[in-house]
Amino acid sequence: MAGLESVDWLTSTTAMELTELPKSLVVIGGGYVGMEQAQLFAHLGARVSVVGRLAPHAEPELAQGLREVFADDGITVVEEHATAVATGIGPHGQDVVVSTASGAQVRGARLLVATGRFARTDGLDLAAAAVDVDERGFVVVDESQRTSNPRIYAAGDVSGAPQYVYVAAAGGRAAALNALADDGRATPARVDYTGLPAVVFTRPQLASAGLTEDEALARGYVCDCRVLGLSDVPRALVQHDTRGAVKLVVDATTGKVLGVHALADGAGEIMLAATYAIKAGMTVDDLADTWAPYLTMAESLRIVAGLFRNQMPTSCCA
Ligand SMILES: Cc1cc2nc3c(=O)[nH]c(=O)nc-3n(C[C@H](O)[C@H](O)[C@H](O)COP(=O)(O)OP(=O)(O)OC[C@H]3O[C@@H](n4cnc5c(N)ncnc54)[C@H](O)[C@@H]3O)c2cc1C
Repeated sequence: MAGLESVDWLTSTTAMELTELPKSLVVIGGGYVGMEQAQLFAHLGARVSVVGRLAPHAEPELAQGLREVFADDGITVVEEHATAVATGIGPHGQDVVVSTASGAQVRGARLLVATGRFARTDGLDLAAAAVDVDERGFVVVDESQRTSNPRIYAAGDVSGAPQYVYVAAAGGRAAALNALADDGRATPARVDYTGLPAVVFTRPQLASAGLTEDEALARGYVCDCRVLGLSDVPRALVQHDTRGAVKLVVDATTGKVLGVHALADGAGEIMLAATYAIKAGMTVDDLADTWAPYLTMAESLRIVAGLFRNQMPTSCCA
């Protein structure tokens, strides 16, 4: 990013080491780290601007809901259609100014760069060990976590896997089992990504399990989706916060649940049940006909499944 070296910028780690709250903060990057830290600083009282698309991989209905939450929190979001929205950075007195692709200028006392993390494989001379990396520097592994050198395994962020701590742990387990197995091991251990959950710890949380509608279509599914607004979820009503929604992505041919997505208080907790449902191959009818405890946010799973039968959202009891 042109001009980055001319300012004293923060990472997600150094931002957490600040001992004083900056008056204002510009965050470059609308991914999960950028969103979580932008909202944290806004809630602490800083004037926050985010430069970059908010939740670019989330379901569009939910990303839109989060935009509205950020607006309520007083966070300015500068979103443009270019992939690299921030085009230039420079000092302006005591402040930092970020220029955007469309010519806008965003100013703040501090700058946080949250544009994603890359593998630091440059200095490892992996070529000498015949370990291939991809064009972005991530170590290439097969399904058994084995690199191009059959005696070397890799796991976690460096292997280009989804960047979650539980994925790193599962990949590490598979790598260790395979590395220590007898040569004749018939079925190597592998990570099964079916129903993989993800949580953005904003308030409310943005969480998902399994495939988005776009991912399902890209994989060739004929899919059917329903979106339930939180104003039809009793738990959200009693909490007086109906901002958000739950979306169900279903294989139209088999009725099987492919993905569950939510913007809601406790959305991350809903995803455990969602992951079980996807992994077990449950259909939307199974979900609609399975018990859901009343006055929990997780009841939204049963209610949204009911929308495939009847357009009226129906809680068990309200
Ligand atoms: C701000 C933030 C919030 C996050 N929140 C969540 C969350 O809520 N939930 C979640 O699941 N995930 C979260 N993640 C992602 C998660 O932290 C990573 O996916 C996970 O840590 C990956 O584990 P890893 O072991 O592959 O890599 P790391 O945890 O990065 O560990 C790699 C280690 O290797 C060391 N190292 C690097 N180069 C060398 C070298 N040349 N020689 C020796 N050692 C080296 C590093 O110092 C580091 O200790 C978050 C990430 C960030 C940045």
